[in-house]
Amino acid sequence: MERVVIVGTGCAGLTAAIYTARAQLAPLVLSGTLPGGLLTTTSIVENFPGFPEGIDGYELMTRLQKQAERFGAKVQFATVESADLSRRPFRLVIDGEPVLAETVIIASGAGHKHLDCPGELELEKKGVTYCATCDGALPMFRQQPLVVVGGGDSACEEASYLTRFASKVYLVHRRDTLRASKIMADRTLANPKIQPVWDSTVTEVLDVKAGKVTGVKLKHLKTGAVTELPCAGVFVAIGHHPNTQLFKGQIDLDDAGYVIRKHGSTTNVEGVFVAGDCADREYRQAITAAGMGCAAALECERFLSAVDHPS
Ligand code: NAP
Repeated sequence: MERVVIVGTGCAGLTAAIYTARAQLAPLVLSGTLPGGLLTTTSIVENFPGFPEGIDGYELMTRLQKQAERFGAKVQFATVESADLSRRPFRLVIDGEPVLAETVIIASGAGHKHLDCPGELELEKKGVTYCATCDGALPMFRQQPLVVVGGGDSACEEASYLTRFASKVYLVHRRDTLRASKIMADRTLANPKIQPVWDSTVTEVLDVKAGKVTGVKLKHLKTGAVTELPCAGVFVAIGHHPNTQLFKGQIDLDDAGYVIRKHGSTTNVEGVFVAGDCADREYRQAITAAGMGCAAALECERFLSAVDHPS
């Protein structure tokens, strides 16, 4: 039986792992399908305290994992297939194997939102992507016009990164002001290779018949005009949805699927704690996820200590 199972190896999960490992709880930490979480798909992280020059997202997550393992965390490349949280010990199935857990910390993060327009799914990996740092340098995008969709920090970051490879980057946003932080927005709009396309949505990715991205159909939301914009790639950066489907019906989720926290990092199920983007629709920063991971670990530790030493 595991004392603590941590679901997720993003900032929240690995910080929870560092704390519970230092408390001698030898947590089992499960990576899911994206070890290191979404931060591994970003380039330089400039706002994580302690790194004045910034740090590569992948490098940061590798360091967090090493730090957790140094204190005895058991980090596994594995996925939880099912979880029965109806009674303790909790029953998980991890890569086909049953595992009993006294406590669970859910830090399963968030996944990319999709445009849900024709052509998007069909052309995924054929020019439609959700990660500039992963795919931007591919030969098919070099010296080509590219489209980034979104108006937040992610879209700005993707657009700026892609200017290294693209002939031009169109930033398609559904409003006429960016949601991104001021520093990112100013930097993006000052880049001569980035051209904003305001008040517009992508209604179709072309061309499924050709088997590759050749352009997008755009609808101007104020005039209703439909136009085509030729491009070789579409980088979708319109936010995230929480990875909580596995726990639906077992713990309380809000209408968007985020885990509802009760006090601090506790959930409606005793012994199940939550941290990071899967429970945070407001801040969603690496450092806030890390802070929530710490809080979840401390509460988990207190819970186990009360179980071990009932008063
Ligand atoms: P976000 O802030 O939620 O922005 C999503 C953007 O996509 C918004 O501009 C939104 O438009 C647009 N959008 C949403 N659904 C859409 C749809 N169906 N069709 C077209 N456009 C759509 O997401 P994010 O940029 O991924 O950022 C998430 C969090 O991570 C934020 O807190 C951000 O600050 C943080 N972040 C920080 C950094 C950094 O500091 N280095 C980098 C990346 C992300 P509206 O504006 O109209 O809502």
